[in-house]
Amino acid sequence: MDQVFDAIIVGAGYIGCSIAYHLCSAGLKTAIFDQGSLAAGASAANYGNIQIQDMELTKSVAMTQMGRALFATLEDELDWKIGLRQIGGLLPIENENQWAILQKRQAALQKIGIHSELISAENLHEIEPYLKESSLLGALYHEQEGQIDPFQLIWGYTQRAKQKGLKEFYYTQVCGFDLQNNRICGVKTTQGNFNAKKVILCTGAYTRHLGQLIGRNWNVHYVLGQAMVTEPVDFIIHNHIASASFFEEGAQVKKGTLIANMAISQSVHGHILVGESMYEADHFKTHVPAASLPAITNCWLRYFPFLKKLRVLRSWSAAVADVGDGLPLLGPVASLEGLYIATAFRSTVIITPLVGKTIAQILTTGQSDLDITSFLPERIIDETN
Ligand SMILES: Cc1cc2nc3c(=O)[nH]c(=O)nc-3n(C[C@H](O)[C@H](O)[C@H](O)COP(=O)(O)OP(=O)(O)OC[C@H]3O[C@@H](n4cnc5c(N)ncnc54)[C@H](O)[C@@H]3O)c2cc1C
Repeated sequence: MDQVFDAIIVGAGYIGCSIAYHLCSAGLKTAIFDQGSLAAGASAANYGNIQIQDMELTKSVAMTQMGRALFATLEDELDWKIGLRQIGGLLPIENENQWAILQKRQAALQKIGIHSELISAENLHEIEPYLKESSLLGALYHEQEGQIDPFQLIWGYTQRAKQKGLKEFYYTQVCGFDLQNNRICGVKTTQGNFNAKKVILCTGAYTRHLGQLIGRNWNVHYVLGQAMVTEPVDFIIHNHIASASFFEEGAQVKKGTLIANMAISQSVHGHILVGESMYEADHFKTHVPAASLPAITNCWLRYFPFLKKLRVLRSWSAAVADVGDGLPLLGPVASLEGLYIATAFRSTVIITPLVGKTIAQILTTGQSDLDITSFLPERIIDETN
């Protein structure tokens, strides 16, 4: 009897944990499963930045704005400190092409009410005093981004969900689904079978594989992103800084090709988080390729050369899901009653509170404040395989 739930969540990253909290708050008897520990996937690998400037600028606007707004009350709602603080977002521009791309973005952001400024190189020192700007044309700057502590956000959600009855199953892989007449009845796991009429996949880079178990060829691919953290130093980096080259290349990375861009932030404890190199892969090995660390280092030392002597404490790699059109997969799976999906968000932290709320609304009322029409999974079915 213990193994019957109203809802089962597969994947205990940001998204799964937010959904767990909201479903338990709505009174649903809920279980969460992860093949590893809590936050075993990409959610343990990130900087916790609440990123706005890099948002997809058409169909994701409402989602990003609604998600961002929920952070204002999140610590009160959870009664949990998640380390929320405001930091700026800075995109240094290295050439004319990047300037033209970011000028266009700035106009588009302005149109939707997000104020950002193009700053000339000579004025950059006011915003980021230690940034060596000699090879830059300037930067796009948005002063109201944010940062949270990833572990506190995930821990806060799971602790509060547990108080409302969440059952957790870690190191338990979901390896099949119990289907009857195109309805989901439960999941098959390495610890046995569990029943529920609603199952939500929050499985990030692993989603394609799970789709195949139910005959859905979702075209979810992923990049392996690498980053590192240094020993702590006095506070020197004020913003989250990411190369504008990212917008020149787009998010498309050719399989096997390592691409390095600068992405740098400083944590409240003084550690400098430096990334990232990435390559599209067809494996989940989390080793850091030998070429990654020099590639990352070359990117950031161009702008912060005085940090050369800093010791690197740790480096890591994680798989981040992507479906190619910059939009997530969010909502019910067609022709399979009871199965839902919530994954592949371009910037996950900013929409984490909203996704939990949205899935809880859909499961309990059949509707949601957020219009999910553009995010339904059928759009990315790969017919070629
Ligand atoms: C270096 C780096 C820095 C980043 N910085 C930021 C940032 O500052 N801000 C930001 O918004 N994003 C950032 N990201 C991206 C962000 O980390 C991811 O988008 C996010 O963590 C995805 O969360 P998720 O819950 O969707 O997926 P995941 O955290 O990947 O969770 C999926 C979970 O599903 C589990 N799972 C999969 N299959 C099964 C199965 N069959 N059975 C049971 N469990 C299963 C996995 O073990 C995993 O724990 C960064 C990424 C990297 C690599």
